[in-house]
Amino acid sequence: MNVLEIRGLGVDYQSATGAVHAVDDVSLDLRRGEILGLAGESGSGKSTLAHAVGRLLRPPAAITGGSVTFHRGDGTAVDVLALRNEELRAFRWREMAIVFQSAMNSLNPVATVGAQIDDVLRIHRPDLPRRSRTERAVDLLQRVGISADRRRSYPHELSGGMRQRAAIAIALALNPEIIIMDEPTTALDVVVQRDILYEIRALREEYGFAVVFITHDLSLLMEISDRIAIMYAGRVVETGGSRDLHRHPRHPYTAGLLRSFPRLRGPREELLGIPGTPPDLRDLPSGCAFHPRCGSAVAECSTRPPRLLDGVACLLNDEKGIR
Ligand code: ADP
Repeated sequence: MNVLEIRGLGVDYQSATGAVHAVDDVSLDLRRGEILGLAGESGSGKSTLAHAVGRLLRPPAAITGGSVTFHRGDGTAVDVLALRNEELRAFRWREMAIVFQSAMNSLNPVATVGAQIDDVLRIHRPDLPRRSRTERAVDLLQRVGISADRRRSYPHELSGGMRQRAAIAIALALNPEIIIMDEPTTALDVVVQRDILYEIRALREEYGFAVVFITHDLSLLMEISDRIAIMYAGRVVETGGSRDLHRHPRHPYTAGLLRSFPRLRGPREELLGIPGTPPDLRDLPSGCAFHPRCGSAVAECSTRPPRLLDGVACLLNDEKGIR
């Protein structure tokens, strides 16, 4: 059962030199309770997609088409792109929470972490008495590995890992169905990062939320996600179970990523497994956008854009295609 359905979503950034098609005709499902990893080189549109789904885009970004539908547990559907101010605020905490790349940017520097959890609860759960709110704050912090007395700490008094945990505790405050995590652990060392992600997996077992997860670390993504969507030049080129995708990548780009274990963020650089660099999103190559870098490309790849069929967008895998 899907908790979120993205259909034909497009996002452009308007610039003086033309529209950058950062997300182009993306259709993707998030199943209830799953961890979905988004992978792809820097600039492939992962963050833009996550921000569009969370309704966090600001100009010059604009949604050019498509839909995002959230399915509540009770069977009702929410048109996420049509939500207006008040509805959007409620939706964001109660049904979808977002943990940003840098916890320092999403935490309020002048309020203790306990007060920040309390704020969310006070605004969205006016029925809860103060004491229950405090109990809930302590419980949430403990669940993410922060001791009760730390609720009186300000963000700058906590380590990077603790701040990240605090941001996750706040995101969990209202039991959302979906948590979007955009590089939640980039700035942390590898051991801390793994610990936090395994804790998120454990919390997921308990609360049943679904996670959309973006990280630069492809091996970690494979380890932590149930399913993975690979993006290239603003499009989803392959989706599949993590294990299947790891063992049997079907798109040549996925295979290249797996060979190179690249840095999916940071400066653009050539990947070991894939020659060349990602294309200019203002002026994509004809046919399959990946064809100029693809070792398996045939003539038709430069003229016929592949559709995402059975989880892969490659003419070589298309039953009506070349093979
Ligand atoms: P990823 O998360 O995969 O690294 P992004 O979603 O951040 O990719 O970026 C996708 C594309 O959109 C990139 O080509 C990037 O240069 C472009 N982009 C991102 N933000 C802006 C902006 N504010 N203005 C113009 N282009 C942008």
